Amino acid sequence: MNRRYKKLRIEKRNRLFELAYIDPITNLGNYNAYLARTKEKLEINCKKTMIILDIDKFKSFNKKYGHTKGNELLKKVGEEIKSAIRKTDIVCRLANDVFGILLVGEADVKNITDRLNKKISRINIKDTWYNLRISMGVYICGSEEKDVQSIIDKAIFAHDSIKGKYNVTYGVFTEEFEQKMVRESEIENRMEEAIQNQEFEIYYQPQIDTKTEKMVGAEALIRWNENGNMISPNEFIPIFERNLFIIKLDAYIFEMVCKHMKEMKQEVKNIPKISVNISKESLAEKDFLERYIKITNQYEIDPNTIQFEITERTTVDDNIDMKEILEKIKEKGFGIAIDDFGTGYSSLNMLEMLPIDTIKIDKSFIDKIGQEKNAIDLLEIILYITQKLRLKTVAEGVEKSEQVKYLKEKKCDFIQGYFYVRPLGFADFKKYIKGKQ
Ligand code: C2E
Ligand code: CA
Ligand code: CA
Repeated sequence: MNRRYKKLRIEKRNRLFELAYIDPITNLGNYNAYLARTKEKLEINCKKTMIILDIDKFKSFNKKYGHTKGNELLKKVGEEIKSAIRKTDIVCRLANDVFGILLVGEADVKNITDRLNKKISRINIKDTWYNLRISMGVYICGSEEKDVQSIIDKAIFAHDSIKGKYNVTYGVFTEEFEQKMVRESEIENRMEEAIQNQEFEIYYQPQIDTKTEKMVGAEALIRWNENGNMISPNEFIPIFERNLFIIKLDAYIFEMVCKHMKEMKQEVKNIPKISVNISKESLAEKDFLERYIKITNQYEIDPNTIQFEITERTTVDDNIDMKEILEKIKEKGFGIAIDDFGTGYSSLNMLEMLPIDTIKIDKSFIDKIGQEKNAIDLLEIILYITQKLRLKTVAEGVEKSEQVKYLKEKKCDFIQGYFYVRPLGFADFKKYIKGKQ
């Protein structure tokens, strides 16, 4: 083999190596490189700490400043991470705005996460300062652990555990997470089958008008009946939001609700307006409205008789243009309620800007009636403002007569809670409606 040919071959191999292992934006290793390098380090007999780091709302940064700036930011973040760790440690960019770090040897988690946070939360690119937020998931490996993928999964799990928590920048994987992870994968393994076996059922919880004490609407609530064992939505909904199965489930529930409404129409004169919970992931789908309108048409349901409940947290997500989506939904006739109001850091401005009909005041405020003076003041202010804006108010989770008394005094429009009635299965709900007519 002549020398020139050999050199060319080496160059080609290096080029292929670069393509396979180097991230061109940051010049750091990519996901494949991270797997390979971590695997090597796991052979060394010492403590290792994995950190998965991502930039919150990187999509919005890209939208606001453009992709070139976005790429510059990624490069800079990579450099800052590199400067915060030792030469023998690893940092790679795994995907979009996600970085993988491996600290080899002793590491003080609080110290290093603080340092990373300080360096990245205020960052300088070409003489301009940007304020960012980052989230980190930390996993401290035992020296016997060799499975890179399972270590990454645990760090990601720790990362996801702090989602939605205000002012928390990192989460550390602890032993109790181990059980949670097993439970999560059980749920994930069963979810498709559960839809096919019709294990998801709908319960309806009536909403009562405080003036007339009559039912004015009802909220559809999902239940997972796994062979008589009820699994709480509080357990499975967050999992499905993460793995996006919620998009399928929301649409399935919506179709069941329409089917039930069609059936009810044949049996009772006035059926109540039904509220359906819709998650952010469903709303962000491009064909969301088209798909849902198709279902209402199929069951001959007037969109005016349905209200969507979206959480206050969803409305403050700036990855989607909420105003545009909600306006389109309104145009078709559906009502819109803001769920869990008071827990999601939205602004008054948002209440005015978005086409909202109803505010559902979170149970945590109702619980404080008769207990905490400051919280009551806040509840009174919320009721005052919503009345000024001509929005309807629903108080959630009302259990006691003194809460009803207070809410009536302050002119809250509707009440939903165990005080009047618990969520009812479809058959019981129909009986309930017939009894009330
Ligand atoms: P949410 O939308 O805030 O629903 C209200 C929750 O409060 C329901 O819990 C309801 O059963 C409960 N509740 C009502 N009155 C009382 C009361 O007086 N006292 C107490 N302690 N609780 C009361 P549930 O059914 O367990 O649902 C939990 C959450 O799961 C819901 O909270 C909602 O965020 C989510 N969810 C339920 N169904 C669906 C669905 O079809 N799609 C989506 N995306 N989420 C759903
Ligand atoms: Ca709700
Ligand atoms: Ca709620």
